[in-house]
Amino acid sequence: MRYDLSNPNLLFAGIALTLAAMVGVELLPPRTLDLMAPGAANGPYLINSDGTQNDASVQWLDERQRRLTCRYTTAKPYLGCGLVFVLTGEDLTHGLDLSRFDSVEVDMSYKGPSPFVRLAIRNFDLRFSKVSAPNSSRFHSVNLRLRDIGKPVEVDLNELTVADWWILNNDLPREFNRPGLENAIVVLIDLPMVELGQGHEMQLRSMTLKGHWVSRDRVYLGILCAWLLAASGMALRGWSQLRQSHSRQQREIDALTARTRQLRVEQENLRRLATIDELTGVLNRRGLEQSMDDFEEASQGMTLVMLDIDHFKRVNDRLGHDCGDEVLKRVAAVVAANLRASDVFGRWGGEEFLIACQGTRVRDAARLAEKLRERVQQSEINSSGGRITVTASFGVALAPPGAPAAGALKRADEALYRAKGAGRNRVEIDQALQSDAPTTV
Ligand code: GH3
Ligand code: MG
Ligand code: MG
Repeated sequence: MRYDLSNPNLLFAGIALTLAAMVGVELLPPRTLDLMAPGAANGPYLINSDGTQNDASVQWLDERQRRLTCRYTTAKPYLGCGLVFVLTGEDLTHGLDLSRFDSVEVDMSYKGPSPFVRLAIRNFDLRFSKVSAPNSSRFHSVNLRLRDIGKPVEVDLNELTVADWWILNNDLPREFNRPGLENAIVVLIDLPMVELGQGHEMQLRSMTLKGHWVSRDRVYLGILCAWLLAASGMALRGWSQLRQSHSRQQREIDALTARTRQLRVEQENLRRLATIDELTGVLNRRGLEQSMDDFEEASQGMTLVMLDIDHFKRVNDRLGHDCGDEVLKRVAAVVAANLRASDVFGRWGGEEFLIACQGTRVRDAARLAEKLRERVQQSEINSSGGRITVTASFGVALAPPGAPAAGALKRADEALYRAKGAGRNRVEIDQALQSDAPTTV
């Protein structure tokens, strides 16, 4: 099984998972925190001028219904009017992490002269907040118009900004003034401006924080990362497969190249072997025929000298076949040593040798044959049977340019035959040349 996206099963599985994650994140019921629910928060408590709950200017009309009234008749430093939920337990520095919520739904009503109702959250920041200084916890708020709260309103927590007065009062480095609700200690709903003699009536029916179980951004980012990972994995895999197949192909090419080179060498060896006589190392009959074909093709013409060792059978018979082989090798070596580079020499068969001389001067060829005859006769051959000498008979014939070598071969053979008949150890020239071809003799 292929583990990449070109495998349709995996691709479909990936698409299905993506769709499921996308639908899931949209359909998942929101995470909620009902501040009124028992145990969710402490309160709500009344907000008044001194926080002691003893100020009669702010009173419950119906505590169960969270209905209250405010009316200040005497001046106080702070004319508070509203409700507060406390999110801490005994440890006043440890609140709730509201950063995982997106909004707060408020269902309330207000009667009175204030144009706004304020929703606020305080966040205790261990870097600078102190329990002894209540105002040191960061104050985030948003003012809601009366028309906004006519019906249940959902306020995005991003709408809450850090109050200017709080920034001024605390005079902290800028980074501490950024909104942040990771340790919220109170949520309150109150009136931002209260004046003496004014009467206000407020009821809070519900207040619920809402958020996603999993952040939608994170889900989409996760999906994107998963696809990117899969794509990079696939690309990496493809790349390494490509590299592997490339190096495999390279190895195959190298092996083929080496094999081809080796075959060429072998072919060359075979070709050479096919034209070389194994015993004497000179050309064999095939090699001689090829060379003569080349001469014929070039219409060069040639003189042929055929030689045959005399009474060779006797050598074999008296001294043994191995000694005969020695004689053959020696005669071949003697003849080869006395030829020009342009002469072609080889073993025609048995104890017969052939020399094909470029050019058509029969006289020269006869002279060469005579010289060779002498050299063969003079050569002492050290063989296993002792020192021996042999003689050879020669027949010379001409293959003029354009004439086939076969005819000349036959005539050279005939001349050789005559040399044998005339007593051996002699050179005979084709009779036809002796009579009517003076220019080439
Ligand atoms: P002639 O003077 O008439 O040429 O007589 P000859 O004995 O040389 O000729 P003949 O054709 O009767 O004998 C040739 C002998 O050469 C016969 C054969 O056994 C021998 N012969 C042929 N090839 C080889 C070879 O490769 N090695 C050896 N040792 N003998 C060979
Ligand atoms: Mg013979
Ligand atoms: Mg012979």
